[in-house]
Amino acid sequence: MCEWPGCAGEGEHRAPLARDRLDQYRWFCLDHVREYNRNWDYYRGMTQAEIEADLRRDTVWQRPTWPLGGGRPRRPNWRIHDGFGFFTDEPDQKGRENARSATEAAHVRALAVFDLEPPVTFERLRSRYLTLVKQNHPDANGGDKAAEERLKSINEAYATLKNGYFA
Ligand SMILES: [Zn+2]
Repeated sequence: MCEWPGCAGEGEHRAPLARDRLDQYRWFCLDHVREYNRNWDYYRGMTQAEIEADLRRDTVWQRPTWPLGGGRPRRPNWRIHDGFGFFTDEPDQKGRENARSATEAAHVRALAVFDLEPPVTFERLRSRYLTLVKQNHPDANGGDKAAEERLKSINEAYATLKNGYFA
């Protein structure tokens, strides 16, 4: 049965009970799980620093990481054009230029995710970021996959800008 007071629907959809008890659920019908999720603020009571730390954890989980102790990937034996200097400790001049323009292109793409035009201050970015995260968090969207994908892009774009866009 749906746990919503007065509802006789089937409780087929689960929603977390509280942030510190994410393994415990309440069960609702579809309409009421949506209603419950809309009113349930995952980040209530957390400071901005705690919210960002939580989001950063999400971002790390979604990314492949280098194997522990693996260090830099080994340069293959055959000759390749290594314009970005992935395999050398000292990228040549051309490599540095390529890396710079790739970074600039990544920043432009990331700003587009936030629909922000330069000049963008860190405060402006962060405020837009927190708004988008709340809008697209799966807990606020009944686990909607599209929102999950958007949140992933938002987290990646935020990480890209935090890492080098602000001097
Ligand atoms: Zn219901």
